[in-house]
Amino acid sequence: MTIESFPKAAKRELVDVQLRTNLRAATDTIQAKRARVVGELPDWEALRDAGSAIKADVLAHLDDYLVQFESAVTAAGGHVHWAADAAEANAVVVEVARAHGVSEVVKMKSLTTDEIHLNAALEEAGIHALETDFAELILQLDGDWSSHILVPAIHRNRREIRDLFARTIARGITSDEPRDLAEASRIYLRERFLNAKVGVSGANFGVAETGTICIVESEGNGRMCTTLPEVLVTVIGIEKLVPRFADLEVFLQLLPRSSTGERMNPYTSLWTGVTPGDGPQELHVVLLDNGRTRVLRDDVGRQALHCIRCSACLNVCPVYSRTGGHAYGSVYPGPIGAILTPQLIGIENAASLPFASSLCGACYEVCPVKIDIPTVLLHLRGQAVAVKAPAPERLVMRTVAWVFGGRRRFMLGQRLARLTQRPFVRGGRIRRLPGPLHAWTSSRDLKPVAPQTFRDWWRSR
Ligand code: SF4
Repeated sequence: MTIESFPKAAKRELVDVQLRTNLRAATDTIQAKRARVVGELPDWEALRDAGSAIKADVLAHLDDYLVQFESAVTAAGGHVHWAADAAEANAVVVEVARAHGVSEVVKMKSLTTDEIHLNAALEEAGIHALETDFAELILQLDGDWSSHILVPAIHRNRREIRDLFARTIARGITSDEPRDLAEASRIYLRERFLNAKVGVSGANFGVAETGTICIVESEGNGRMCTTLPEVLVTVIGIEKLVPRFADLEVFLQLLPRSSTGERMNPYTSLWTGVTPGDGPQELHVVLLDNGRTRVLRDDVGRQALHCIRCSACLNVCPVYSRTGGHAYGSVYPGPIGAILTPQLIGIENAASLPFASSLCGACYEVCPVKIDIPTVLLHLRGQAVAVKAPAPERLVMRTVAWVFGGRRRFMLGQRLARLTQRPFVRGGRIRRLPGPLHAWTSSRDLKPVAPQTFRDWWRSR
């Protein structure tokens, strides 16, 4: 799958004034809340270091932790399925739903299931996946898709939502008060929850030591999805593991403070296998790869797998705040999308995304697990040039690298440049280079090569 080029998509999104207004209001509020609660913790930097170290350890020993997790889930009465790609993961969920003869599953917000287009796969099998998160429900009712990791309908205002509800689930509603809109969705969803036989969830963390799955959320719909149905299917990316139960202590401080700007999430749910007479009696856990092991192979790029999806990097990004999430062409928008998507689907399919950044470094400053996003962006830009740049440009770059790679070659190159630049120097600047090189000078002047190198000057003294 190749995604639309970022500059093209961004140009389209930039005309949406409403989008930018909504984004500004929401991200400013979240940023202020985050700064307040982060400032309360004297050991915030130590927590970030701990989060980063735990994630690095997980990736370094992922094979062992995955097997440990599988054993623990199985011992606790769950079933573990390994999915190499989206098709395999979707097939497991469809099979479970079919085995229980359902035409609808209730589903909580999950980026991982969005990544594999689970809803479409279920729909194809004649099974409706009902989104139960308020924002996700809005998007589903309108055939729209998410533009922010944490606030998927950030580009919608309450009047638009009132009109949508009036057309769909709450005919006759006239109020656009948040309380009334929430009540309308609650009434619509409550009966569906009570009748649901199969629930589908993602996961924030999986504990290798115990097989425990952890989700955090704000609305309580996730807890209903994971406790009311008889059967639960949880799709979890393989990088979401933590080694020990005690490691949750670190992430359950980092995540809510960085995402919603709260000390803890209103709902933190943990479950381990099945418990007779309590909650779902059949648990399926789908361990999803879908490109993650390829990301793991890259020593620089693999840190993108540390991400705990808090969205703090989106809220501070000057590019995201102008374009919104749709311009990134994937379920992972903003700075994390710019480094994760090209690695998951192949740089050749998303070559423009690593360039969707001013490299200001604000994302690195706020990332709770210290992902060095600017460094990964530069690394991926190099890969993008290697696969996407036209052959002549690649040849020029290789030649330049060869010339710069040896002292004698470099000095000879300097002498040649000095001789050949003369016709193009005007007023002490090179203002226009000939042929295809003119692109370099179309928006910038170049400094000519100095008439004398420092070495020559030193010798001549
Ligand atoms: S990259 Fe860091 S800041 Fe951005 S969503 Fe992931 S964890 Fe949060």
